[in-house]
Amino acid sequence: MPQSSERRIIIALDGPAGSGKSTTARNIAHTLGYVYIDTGAMYRAITLAALRAGAAIHNDALQAILQSARIELLPSTDGQRTLLNGEDVSAEIRSHEVTEAVSGVSALGVVRSAMVERQRELGSAGGVVMDGRDIGTVVFPQAELKIFLVASLEERARRRLAELGAGASAANITLDEMCAQLGERDRQDSEREISPLTKATDAIEIDTSALSIDQQVAQILAFAHERIQR
Ligand code: C5P
Repeated sequence: MPQSSERRIIIALDGPAGSGKSTTARNIAHTLGYVYIDTGAMYRAITLAALRAGAAIHNDALQAILQSARIELLPSTDGQRTLLNGEDVSAEIRSHEVTEAVSGVSALGVVRSAMVERQRELGSAGGVVMDGRDIGTVVFPQAELKIFLVASLEERARRRLAELGAGASAANITLDEMCAQLGERDRQDSEREISPLTKATDAIEIDTSALSIDQQVAQILAFAHERIQR
């Protein structure tokens, strides 16, 4: 546990889908006694609200959805629960429908500004590990530690299939199909106009293709301790 006099920093963890961000971020937050914030869950929750409302994916429609949707992130033993208007949607935001639509919703200016504002409120006091796509570049460009995780497309697809487990077998998703899905999401997230997925110039890049979660966590914790003591 951290000592009370210790400085509590902001750790920004960015990277493409399946690069190991969330599991790593959760572990680091737990070890340091920090809050873990999965910003992807916020974009997924607003996407779910839009899908449920049958809204078109454009700024005006999403503006209305943003006004009526209350998104809450609650710390839990498995990381974070996501509530939409009081309902626990932690499982539903991982559905294929949401995953397919989320990059389109996340590219909209109204959505990004609302989410970024919220994320700054949640993290500005420090003692936070926040994972996403634009945390080190846009949300907290002043973060004391910025990590950019990468891994080969095939390795990321393998991990995603393992995460889905029985669900993937039931849906008959092959490795090639998962590579195509992740590749398309990477493309949309990297090519959008506002806050595209990109490595901050001062981020430390870690290729996790051949690393275990424990190894990733140990590497990042070493950087974190060094920054905390600066
Ligand atoms: O992290 P996860 O894969 O759950 O994120 C889902 C989607 O949310 C991403 O593909 C991206 O479109 C969007 N996202 C974003 N900015 C963030 C976090 C997620 O645009 N900071």
